[in-house]
Amino acid sequence: MGVTQQQVQDALAKVATPRGVALTNAGVLSPISASDGKVFFSINVEASEARAWESVRAAAEAAVRAIPGVEVAMVALTAERKAGSAAPPPQHRHAQGVQNVASHRPPGGASPMAKQAEIPGVAAIIAVASGKGGVGKSTTALNLALGLRDLGLRVGLLDADIYGPSVPRLTGLREKPQLSDDRKMIPLQRFGLSIMSIGFLVEEETAMIWRGPMVMSAVTQMLRDVVWGKLDVLVVDMPPGTGDAQLTLAQTVPLKGAIIISTPQDLSLIDARRGLAMFRKVNVPVLGIIENMSYFQCPHCGTKSDIFGHGGARHEAERLGVPFLGEIPLHISIRTTSDAGTPVVESEPSGPHAAIYRAIAAKVRDQLQGAIAAA
Ligand code: ADP
Repeated sequence: MGVTQQQVQDALAKVATPRGVALTNAGVLSPISASDGKVFFSINVEASEARAWESVRAAAEAAVRAIPGVEVAMVALTAERKAGSAAPPPQHRHAQGVQNVASHRPPGGASPMAKQAEIPGVAAIIAVASGKGGVGKSTTALNLALGLRDLGLRVGLLDADIYGPSVPRLTGLREKPQLSDDRKMIPLQRFGLSIMSIGFLVEEETAMIWRGPMVMSAVTQMLRDVVWGKLDVLVVDMPPGTGDAQLTLAQTVPLKGAIIISTPQDLSLIDARRGLAMFRKVNVPVLGIIENMSYFQCPHCGTKSDIFGHGGARHEAERLGVPFLGEIPLHISIRTTSDAGTPVVESEPSGPHAAIYRAIAAKVRDQLQGAIAAA
């Protein structure tokens, strides 16, 4: 039997708060989402009180998790700055990044639970995901974004890989985003893409220790409190894996579809299958699987060797009934261009690798045609 809102309310009524009243009477709770054993809500307090409420958040999460039948419980602590209080000057954002990104929420800002509300001006948001790290997800996400750009689309890239944001390295971008007059972040521009990454705001190690709700708050804010402008496609580089944080993101971000990156190795394919199951669970269509590091291409003679038993992802895609989008070779120039901050589609636009990414981009674009045309 599913968990009811009443059961959640009853559990929360036993959680004490610094205001001396039960959590349910403190006037700080967002609407509670409880379905299929998954419970999400947020506790909204003033920024100045946030520290004192962290233990309440933890207690609330534990209380909900203890209800029989609850599989996932996520409670976000969101802290509002009082209207009229000073905004941090842009040059200080870096030092205050954790506070601003993870917990500050401007009045009227969308709650992390405001599932599926569209982003005005953005026609289609797609996720690039992988069942595990190190399979080339971020490299593929960026080159795919550039391939979509080459097709004449307006494209953004959101690096939501909070556990290891690599877009600053892949693009060479190091600046901090400026704030607009209405205190939204202005994405950085590079290669004709609008780009936002948690790595622009906090040190990598800081993001690594964030827990689920903070990750969610941060990504929601990077999605909604950023001046994306008019985009045909926003590519979201997801955190690797298929845990609770990824599942919640897949559910929270209004995705038109997801792309799974896999290497040919068996283990990676098993992980890819989990990724597929995750998106299906939250009703996000899987646009297809890309096999990365599919075969080894010798940089000297161009000879191809199937050192990993190439083709596994294609078979897997066929078996699972999802499109197979293409194969990207393991090639030194894909790595060196990425590491130099000049991705291969940008730096070698007439080379064979750019052509592969563009062909994949065309397949993705065709699947999004409806959404792009409607916008
Ligand atoms: P992930 O996002 O899955 O952790 P990255 O995109 O950061 O993976 O890639 C991991 C490493 O593999 C990087 O050094 C990257 O340059 C390299 N890489 C990714 N794809 C390829 C490829 N097709 N050929 C060669 N190197 C690649």
